[in-house]
Amino acid sequence: MAQSSRLVVELQERPRPGEVIMLPNGERVRVRHIGVPWLLPPKAVCNDDKCPWHGHVKVRGTILEGRVVSVYMGQVVIQHEWLHYSPKYKRYIRKRRNIHAHLPSCIKVNVGDYVVIGETRPLAKFISFVVLGKRPDDVTSVNPEVKEIQQQ
Ligand SMILES: [Zn+2]
Repeated sequence: MAQSSRLVVELQERPRPGEVIMLPNGERVRVRHIGVPWLLPPKAVCNDDKCPWHGHVKVRGTILEGRVVSVYMGQVVIQHEWLHYSPKYKRYIRKRRNIHAHLPSCIKVNVGDYVVIGETRPLAKFISFVVLGKRPDDVTSVNPEVKEIQQQ
């Protein structure tokens, strides 16, 4: 990776997809549409190449949720849990899997947070997922504000 420096700029307001933001070193970063309509872009802008919002990584395939187990060096380990039906015992089995995912520098997570990850092309030897956002903050609300239109 021929990347000179990793820059992260915190913004006052959450940008909308399509906006272009100028970094202090003169680089222009466009906030991309990642193709997941219920996820909002983060409140910061970075020049990470492997960022789904500001880089060149495309999200395709599955979108999963999980709890952060560990955070290290731009990567996270996420524990994903799901229910699997067993026809023999006629019961659900709780299954879990640890998934390594790339953490873009514009998203800050701690151990125990619930995050949304999306499948991408292989980014490293065992990483083919990227963190898209945190569970309560970056997800659009189920009941949005209703604006009434007054008729004349
Ligand atoms: Zn970013």
